[in-house]
Amino acid sequence: MKAAPGAAVAAPIERLDLPIARAVPEVARGAATLRRLGVYTPRQALFYLPFRYDDYSDLRPLGDLVADEKQSARVRVTDVKVEPGFGRRPQRVIAQLADDTGSAEAIWFGRRFVERRLHAGEEVVLSGKVAMRGWRPQFVSPDFSPAGAASLHTGRIVPIYRLVGGITQRRVRELLARVLGRSLRDVRDPLAPEERPGLPDLPAALKAAHFPDDPGEVRPALDRLAHDELLALQLVLAQARVARSGQRAPRIAVSAGELETLEGALPFTLTDDQRVAIREVLADLDGELPMRRLLQGDVGSGKTAVAAVALAAACRAGWQGVLMAPTEILARQHYLGLAPLLEALGVRGEFLSGSLSAARKRAIHAAIGEGEIEVVIGTHAVISRGVVFRRLGVAVVDEQHRFGVSQRAALQAKGEGLEPHLLALTATPIPRTLALTFYGDLSISTIRQMPPGRQPVRTEIRDRGALERIQDFIADEAAAGRQSFVVVPLVLESEMTDAASAEAEATRLSGALPQLRVGLVHGQQRSELRDAMMARFAAAELDVLVATTVVEVGIDVPNASVMLIEDAERFGLAQLHQLRGRVGRGPHRSFCILLSDADDPVARRRLEVVKGSTDGFAIAEEDLALRGAGNLLGTRQSGLPPLRVATLFDPRHLELAGQARELAQRLVAEDPGLTRRPDLIRLRDDFAPRDEEGDAA
Ligand code: ADP
Ligand code: MG
Repeated sequence: MKAAPGAAVAAPIERLDLPIARAVPEVARGAATLRRLGVYTPRQALFYLPFRYDDYSDLRPLGDLVADEKQSARVRVTDVKVEPGFGRRPQRVIAQLADDTGSAEAIWFGRRFVERRLHAGEEVVLSGKVAMRGWRPQFVSPDFSPAGAASLHTGRIVPIYRLVGGITQRRVRELLARVLGRSLRDVRDPLAPEERPGLPDLPAALKAAHFPDDPGEVRPALDRLAHDELLALQLVLAQARVARSGQRAPRIAVSAGELETLEGALPFTLTDDQRVAIREVLADLDGELPMRRLLQGDVGSGKTAVAAVALAAACRAGWQGVLMAPTEILARQHYLGLAPLLEALGVRGEFLSGSLSAARKRAIHAAIGEGEIEVVIGTHAVISRGVVFRRLGVAVVDEQHRFGVSQRAALQAKGEGLEPHLLALTATPIPRTLALTFYGDLSISTIRQMPPGRQPVRTEIRDRGALERIQDFIADEAAAGRQSFVVVPLVLESEMTDAASAEAEATRLSGALPQLRVGLVHGQQRSELRDAMMARFAAAELDVLVATTVVEVGIDVPNASVMLIEDAERFGLAQLHQLRGRVGRGPHRSFCILLSDADDPVARRRLEVVKGSTDGFAIAEEDLALRGAGNLLGTRQSGLPPLRVATLFDPRHLELAGQARELAQRLVAEDPGLTRRPDLIRLRDDFAPRDEEGDAA
């Protein structure tokens, strides 16, 4: 059987893909646990990778333990005592420990199984975080196992996995170790050694990624897995390119005179950068290949005008256009902003969202089908099944990182026969090398210049001690008719949810400033409620809007003059910069206050970078330099495909990405369907990026 290029080819079922209880009888009783982690097969178990490691490989004498670090020690248990819980205090188990260099204790809270498994007189290896009680070291809730026995949990590099409620690290480690023990020998390396120069083979990498024998093994193992993940992505891109190579787009030529008319209809004079971007877009439209262009520019740089010219040009040439925005309020704002322009140019535009009545939607669908409506501006309702264009020529996605890959694809699929030209807008700067690597043949236009007349936002860094003064300032601004955003921190794991912390802050602020009207938006709200709240803020019916990072999406509130960001050190710099861009959009003097009690010098430096620069690209680059291999933007924010192992800002991984790209292009050029390399199909599907789930906030 010969498959068409790019078509999915099924590989034969292997033992690695059987139900895990059948393939690995040793874990039959743990199969339900593994299923809750999304693991159904041995292959999925092997790729259920730790998200970090704790290094407990270095056993320390008790006399050498230091505070606030995770450490291991081999000790004698001299006493185990159980203190019953009462009231809200949980039961505690306290063990006394000794070795030749000193003594220590260990404490567990409400852990019944500890008292069953730990007895006076035993020798154990303990691993965990150490606190100092006076001069005496205390292990807090350490893991332990009998000394001398090889252990998965103590005295080694210990993998830490993502869990769901009620499942412990110990349990997952034990189950995965058993799966590895049986299934690793079934793993074939899909790559020949010369296809992965300098990297370990796959079975070795998987073994070391879960249970490294030595700290030095982790990095090469993760590099290998990162390489394969990047290769999977590049295979998808390379195959998509082959599949697309046959597609044609409508050719839309725009004369110099027509361009003058279009520009003349705008209510302002374009900046030079906008003009260059428009020229680049129009050059693409005047070609038979579908445009695939990313337009990046800071918040407020005027990307919409570029999109508007493209849409209007297409319609005046007899085609239809669509603009998809991630929220209803943003879509509405675009519609209201573009309506006069479209009208002036004789183009019929319409707003479409899920909140319209069924009858209204039907009528709009029909008019789109007839070609009567020329530009549709709306939410993801524009990709619903009822929407069928007659002659779609240009599709625009605003805030493109908020949409999944499949939503973008659905929009492009709305062109009947011909593929529409696609323009994606983003405020998140992506360094060019990254974009080339991860978007393949996507072209990029950049607006660096702000429209004239913007007031720079004054940025200040303050600590919590200044909160009262800041509140007074917010009250003064409100008295002067201005509005403020208060963005609450991203909540760390195990604390309360983002929503709860935003609610608490809104309650606190209304208490402290009873004269002000305080609103609240967060990701757990229904989107209608959230949109309604945003709309009230935009209409100046609220003085203060307390928000989680949902405000990051570009609504325009020119009357807002204060952006207060709490625990600012917890945000990415690009995100801080984007939040700051929410103010300073009108004629008023505007302020961005970064509230932070962090005393770590890198955290301070990062905030100073935001304070000292107004250039989103420069900020992104500084963040990269300061955080090194860290994740610059967070995958959700970045607009890049979500990756599990590879880290985009790790120079080594970038190098691997280039290597993977070359390999993928060569492999797909030789064998477009990869029919001769079923293992590569499997690799591609194992790692292929899935759409971001949910789009709440
Ligand atoms: P973003 O790039 O964040 O989407 P917008 O397209 O929403 O920015 O533009 C922000 C604001 O700047 C809008 O109110 C828009 O009308 C205005 N604007 C855009 N371009 C210009 C320009 N060249 N001169 C003056 N104002 C402009
Ligand atoms: Mg915008």
